[in-house]
Order: sequence, then C-alpha cells, then structure tokens
Amino acid sequence: SAPRSDPEEPRISAYACQRRTPLDHLNKIFTDASEVLAENAEFSESEGRGLAFRKAGSVLRSLPFAVSRMEDLRGVPCLGEHSRKIIQEILEDGVSGEVEGVLRSERYRAMKALTGVFGVGVKTADRWVREGLRTPGDLLTSGHRLSREQEAGVRYYEDLNCPVTRAEADAIGEIVKEAVHSILPGARVTLTGGFRRGKEAGHDVDLLITHPEEGKEEGLLGKLTSWLDSQGVLLYQRVSEGSGGRGRESGPMDHFHRSFSILKLGEQPGAPPGPPQPGASSAGQTQEAASPRGQGGAQGRGWRAVRVDLVICPYSQFAYALLGWTGSQQFERDLRRFASQERDMSLNSHGLYQREQVRTPPPPHCISESSPPLSLSLSLSSPPL
Ligand code: ATP
Ligand code: MN
Ligand code: MN
Repeated sequence: SAPRSDPEEPRISAYACQRRTPLDHLNKIFTDASEVLAENAEFSESEGRGLAFRKAGSVLRSLPFAVSRMEDLRGVPCLGEHSRKIIQEILEDGVSGEVEGVLRSERYRAMKALTGVFGVGVKTADRWVREGLRTPGDLLTSGHRLSREQEAGVRYYEDLNCPVTRAEADAIGEIVKEAVHSILPGARVTLTGGFRRGKEAGHDVDLLITHPEEGKEEGLLGKLTSWLDSQGVLLYQRVSEGSGGRGRESGPMDHFHRSFSILKLGEQPGAPPGPPQPGASSAGQTQEAASPRGQGGAQGRGWRAVRVDLVICPYSQFAYALLGWTGSQQFERDLRRFASQERDMSLNSHGLYQREQVRTPPPPHCISESSPPLSLSLSLSSPPL
C-alpha cells in the first residue's frame, strides 16, 4: 500500500462509522489512557472533555499500526492537543504522569467504585464522595437511604462487576427464549450489544425481542417478566414503558418498552436456577444476599446475578432497533452524526427520517408550550424510509 505521506492515500474518517474497528487492536496502551481520562472528565461532569477522550480512543483503536512515534499521527483526526500530549508522554516515558495521577487519586477511585453500583450515576456518587463515602460497603454502614435500584446494585455488587461471559450470555438468551416462546410462539429473540459485535465478555446481556406479525409484540414485556418472576429468575427490574415505538420518537434515547433487569443464572449455563425461594419470588424482595463485603460472589452459591436489558420492538422497526442496540456507543453516535451532518437526515433506533421539512417556517399554531421542539416534531412527521 501507499506510504503514509501519499496525498492520494484515503484519509482516516472522523466518523467512527466509516472506520474499521476490530475487536483486537494495536494501541491498547494509549486507549487505556484515554479511557481513564474520559472517565475522569465524566466524573466531574465535563461532558465535552469526556467526549474528546472517547473520540481519541475510538480513532486510536482503528489504526492498523502500533503508534511508535508522534509522526505516525500525522493526518489522524479526532486527536486534540491534550490527547497528543498524553500519547507523547507515553511514547517518551512508557506511562503518562497525568493518567497515573488520576489512577492514584482518592476521588477517581471512590467515584469509580461508587458509580460501579447499578443505579448510581455521577451526581449521586459525587454527593456521596463529598460526604466522605468511598466504597459500596460504606453505603451499608452509613445508613444512607438507597433507591430500590441502588439497593439491588449494592446487594449484587460483586456479581454485576464480574464480566459476563459469552457462554453466560447465551445461557441467559436461552432462558429468555424459552419464556418468550411459551408466551408468544414465533417471537424472535436476538442477542445484541457487545456480544453481537463479537466481544467475549460484557457488562450485561442485551436482548431485542420482536414478532414478525406487527402488533403481536404488544404487552409481551409484562408477560415475559411475570413469567421470569414466577420461575424465581427475576431478581430486580425497572420497566421503562415508553410508547412501544408508536408515539413521537425523538432524541437519542429510544421509546421501546424495555426492562433493565437483573436475572439469576444457575450453576451450569442453561440449567434452571432451581425452585423459587418461598416468599421471595417477587423481584427486589429476594432475601439471599450477595453482599459487597461478605461471602458474596457466585462461588459456592450455585448461581450468579446478571444485568440484562430486555427490549421489545415492533417488527417494522426491528432493523433500526437492531442497529441502534448493537453499538458501540461511539459507532452509534457517529452514525447519527453522519446521518444528520452529511445526509441531512435523522437516525435513531426507530427509523431514518428525511429532514427537509425542518427548514420550512413553522405555521404559527405549532409554537405553543405543549409542542415538542420544532425541529423534532417536523422532522419526525415524515415516515421512516
Ligand atoms: P457492554 O459489553 O459493556 O455491555 P455494550 O456495547 O453492549 O457494552 P450497552 O451499554 O449494553 O453496551 O449498550 C449497547 C448499545 O445499546 C449501546 O451502544 C447503545 O447504542 C444502545 N443503548 C443502550 N442503552 C440505550 C438506551 N437507553 N436507549 C437507546 N439505546 C441504548
Ligand atoms: Mn451490553
Ligand atoms: Mn445494555
């Protein structure tokens, strides 16, 4: 192939969706550093800085060569001054002093530990850190009031921070498939998220559920989670009702019926988890504890807790939902940015829309407090392609 200085050489795209991003890549030492700096920025709610480090990590992941000198980065997009400085530091010293400093800092460590609890976001973690809390264990002794979600997060802390393997994801998929098929024969269950991208491990299992006959999927989520609950498999869930994909869909978040849940996975992948505990069959009420400090963890207990996202979508939106839930987050972000900036279209997990109408001046009656933002209401009035 042509030397890197060849002006004819195709430039690396600034859109992640136009770059190959293999699972294994050659610049881990640099992407690990950007990951830490991105997290640290997000922990101080510096979204812009966080995004810059995420973009830098994403482009470094796509390079087909290991960066060994600064000249290698000539023409590489998405690398700001700060990212380049970090790379240079690593090239010269083997490590970045700034990254090492972050990793050692008490605040970063505490934020990392506390946001690692399911149901705890940056704002809450920050408040707790300022109150002197450092670990999930501190939450139990401090007597802080926890939401139902956070309580589950603390109870299953060890399990939920132990990566889910591909075999475990498949086993969860089988459990859910069996449940879905007993409720609605012909329904389709698809493993999405990182596992669909070929990852060997993940933080959760993402399952997209649909039925080829549009409309049959309605009401499925409630029946599915009741079934799982009756089997003693549902340890926790938070349902997001959305509109089932039938309302005005806008924004980056989708509007499908979904359940952010924690399921119980038995000892052998695919094996039933055993009879439900008497009086403990209702989600969130299970008394067995996987304490973050005690003898928690799957060892010796015979089962483990796994985070599962269950998403129901109408068949006509399945392609978009599958695309949207496959990730990676950076790929999705740039695919949507590409649609909007390069094609004047709007993409989300429900469809791809023309945006020409956006430029049309609005009829006066559209401007009212009850109307959604104009560009959205107009852009979404055109049917999906
Ligand atoms: P991991 O292995 O850590 O789970 P992942 O790529 O599967 O990595 P997830 O957080 O499970 O990450 O999300 C998978 C994809 O689903 C994301 O890339 C995102 O595009 C999409 N997604 C996640 N949550 C939502 C949401 N609330 N609304 C719309 N899309 C979402
Ligand atoms: Mn996932
Ligand atoms: Mn997920």
